[in-house]
Amino acid sequence: MSGKDVRYGAEIRKQASKVLATKRASYACPKCGKLSVRRSSNSLWACRSCGTKFAGGAYSLSTPSGEVSTRMLGEYKKR
Ligand SMILES: [Zn+2]
Repeated sequence: MSGKDVRYGAEIRKQASKVLATKRASYACPKCGKLSVRRSSNSLWACRSCGTKFAGGAYSLSTPSGEVSTRMLGEYKKR
């Protein structure tokens, strides 16, 4: 059982690096269309061009795979 846990942790670290890469990426603003949307805090996204702020995920700023990674990280923190 402990060996399985170690393996699970390695998978989590792979997912975590993917999440960090996602955080650095810019996204297209649904309002002005410019690639100026960046994550400004945990679940808040802001467009640096028009100043619009969004909650993460509300405008497809988080991909389905990104949501899975976030959920897995949440489980990891509970341990
Ligand atoms: Zn904008």
